[in-house]
Amino acid sequence: MGYWDMRAALEWQVAMGADEAILDQPVNRYDAPAKPAEKPKPSQQPVQAEMPKVDAAILAKQVASPAEDLDSLAAAMRAFEECELKRGARNFVFSDGLAGSRVMIIGEAPGRDEDIEGRPFVGRAGVLLDQMFAAIGLARTNPTPDTALYITNVLPWRPPQNRDPSPEEIAMMLPFLEKHVALAKPDFVVAMGNIACQAVLGRRGITRLRGQWSEAFDRPCLPMFHPAYLLRSPLAKREAWADLLSLKARLA
Ligand code: URA
Repeated sequence: MGYWDMRAALEWQVAMGADEAILDQPVNRYDAPAKPAEKPKPSQQPVQAEMPKVDAAILAKQVASPAEDLDSLAAAMRAFEECELKRGARNFVFSDGLAGSRVMIIGEAPGRDEDIEGRPFVGRAGVLLDQMFAAIGLARTNPTPDTALYITNVLPWRPPQNRDPSPEEIAMMLPFLEKHVALAKPDFVVAMGNIACQAVLGRRGITRLRGQWSEAFDRPCLPMFHPAYLLRSPLAKREAWADLLSLKARLA
């Protein structure tokens, strides 16, 4: 077993209620018998027992649920060790803007610039995001909840080479996102791009989903094209503008 398998096995035991080691010396109950009568043929060799993997999403829920405010949620997330992305990232990226804003934006994951700065959407896509929302009178720097924005991502750590987060990574961090939304209490959630839609709506296909109001975490949710996509496909800004107007109408 490697380090993570052993650690998962130990955490599973703790989750099952084991709270004490009762022998002075560890006994490896998965060891093959010390002296087999004769060397078994390959087909007779003892099979290593499969240890159940700790369900990281269950652990995440256990540590996220007691959080009573955003600071304690951030601390719980920061201390969460199950997500391998944490080990490759420079910074933990939690949120930006005004908590309690009527609009909460959910992006995908930090990129290079966000990883360096420790804040979401500060690179080129972030500049475009700010310009888009400024066009309907919203900004992360505004001081009042009516016109401010609160911004976070599905994942707080940068995936290596900006690869797409895996379904396992999304699932394990989802309980934190759910709690994040519950504590920030926005009136509207904007899901930016496919990864955010997969996380909050359980669906992908942003070209069809965008502009269709839906529900996420018991709140109205508007899927939109990700600004990074709009940088690559400027013609899609037309649809993004329609979506911004739809959000503006709801806010009014
Ligand atoms: N893209 C995202 O989805 N989030 C960021 O924070 C930056 C780029």
